[in-house]
Amino acid sequence: MAAPRGWLGTVEAEGISGRQGSSGVEVVFPSDPATPAPLCPHGPTLLFVKVNQGKEETRRFYACSACRDRKDCNFFQWEDEKLSGARLAAREAHNQKCQPPLSRTQCVERYVKFIELSLSQRKFCQGCQQLLLPDDWEKHQEHRVVGDISITQLKRPSQLLYPLENKKTNAQYLFTDRSCQFLVDLLSTLGFTRVLCVGTPRLHELIRLKASGEKKSNIKSLLLDIDFRYSQFYMEDSFCHYNMFNHHFFDGKAALEVCRTFLQEDKGEGVIMVTDPPFGGLVEPLAVTFKKLIAMWKEGQSQDNSQKELPIFWIFPYFFEFRIRQFFPSFCMLDYQHFHRTFICVDEAMKYGCMLEVDYDNHALYKHGKTGRKQSPVRIFTNIPPNKIILPSEEGYRFCPLCQRYVSLENQHCEHCNSCTSKDGRKWNHCFLCKKCVKPSWIHCSICSHCALPDHSCGAPKDGCFICGELDHKRSTCPKIATSKKVNNTLFFRAVRKQKQRKSNKMKMGTTKGQSMNHTSVTRKKSRRERAHQYLCS
Ligand code: SAH
Ligand code: ZN
Ligand code: ZN
Ligand code: ZN
Ligand code: ZN
Repeated sequence: MAAPRGWLGTVEAEGISGRQGSSGVEVVFPSDPATPAPLCPHGPTLLFVKVNQGKEETRRFYACSACRDRKDCNFFQWEDEKLSGARLAAREAHNQKCQPPLSRTQCVERYVKFIELSLSQRKFCQGCQQLLLPDDWEKHQEHRVVGDISITQLKRPSQLLYPLENKKTNAQYLFTDRSCQFLVDLLSTLGFTRVLCVGTPRLHELIRLKASGEKKSNIKSLLLDIDFRYSQFYMEDSFCHYNMFNHHFFDGKAALEVCRTFLQEDKGEGVIMVTDPPFGGLVEPLAVTFKKLIAMWKEGQSQDNSQKELPIFWIFPYFFEFRIRQFFPSFCMLDYQHFHRTFICVDEAMKYGCMLEVDYDNHALYKHGKTGRKQSPVRIFTNIPPNKIILPSEEGYRFCPLCQRYVSLENQHCEHCNSCTSKDGRKWNHCFLCKKCVKPSWIHCSICSHCALPDHSCGAPKDGCFICGELDHKRSTCPKIATSKKVNNTLFFRAVRKQKQRKSNKMKMGTTKGQSMNHTSVTRKKSRRERAHQYLCS
């Protein structure tokens, strides 16, 4: 039987057309899998099931764990499909071909050679996103090559590399220096000496800069990331090419051991994991991965420490609170809302030949967005007791002695809920009918018998449910939560996509007017994207 054409595409199409009925794709984790999952270039695939009108279809299939788009990785195999020897061999060859052109060791050797070059010899090809050795110069003659790469620049690869901007698979949202600084200060105040950075290249970078700077800090950092381009800038003990959706180390056992050693050093004392996964990812595979990293850390613990947990900062949007707490009940969401990521104006960057990083704080889109609010939706989820995490009073945070945590000034303690209830930085109001606090823009609707936006159409809130995408209820009343523990995250994304699509349609209409992107910049942008993508997938 033929593979469903673009299986995620189908989901999306349904999402966009806004068709009723919960259809989508769910990831399944069989408790005792009969056979190991087949491999794609990104490591073991995940098992998915298509859901139609809330019912699982019986035939399940394997697809790539990391790529949300079949264009990025087109692996597809029915669970019960038997492949011929020839097809298996072809797949194996394809997987090999997709691996990075250079081995990890080769990258390190090149890096060592590179730093020994004189300043004028240190060149970087922007087109190929690659540090060049003199032998490579000729090949890149026609490319856009920048010279005089300083040691300082080498220490900040995230500024040298173009952020990947493939929306579905891997959009890189880098922290602003201010946000990164906040994190580093926090980690150091909390006394951590080792940070496992999972998908946080800029945090990794800043920690290392501080460790080598004047006012030396003693924090060590190890970066795990799928963006292979980083392997040009780090030795084996500070970067592993890694897929966080299946806990796959692309460089095999040696890399896994680097990670294990890092986690277990000092009997596991002083280490924290900080992660900022792509939002388009599935929460469940991430949770499974993080539990494996936790287990790895635990192996190195002495018996009497069995109660202790690996400290974690999981940076993710606030509307995932419910999902994250399903997997990690001990986690709480901090109220810190000044987490800003740089907004890279790609078009401007092409025009000026450099990267313009705009603080979300200062960016017009954010400032004058629909709501007029400029807070970021990104929060820290952590198992560290929140009373230990002091949020800066200069940025408008105070300590709530009742909740024993720092909250934003707007977030007032509700005596009925006995908690500071706001999630989004605005003051929420208590609704006695709903018996909970609700967003300030909501009013209680007697037809729907819950609170909603004043202009909602009764029976069909226009943003739909965050869990399943249905339009007739909100997340809090989602039947999926009540009936099944396995809440469907893909469907969740369909809902988010629906909302995003509505927004971006609006935005597109606003920005295309009067904006003339010339043809060359379009093609240039495309080929760069493709090249960057080649790197990621190779
Ligand atoms: N705010 C962070 C960057 C977060 S962007 C910082 O400034 O440091 C998300 C990061 O996750 C990117 O670096 C991206 O390369 C990485 N990533 C995306 N998919 C991944 C995967 N499947 N496995 C590991 N890392 C991944
Ligand atoms: Zn893949
Ligand atoms: Zn080149
Ligand atoms: Zn309340
Ligand atoms: Zn109400």
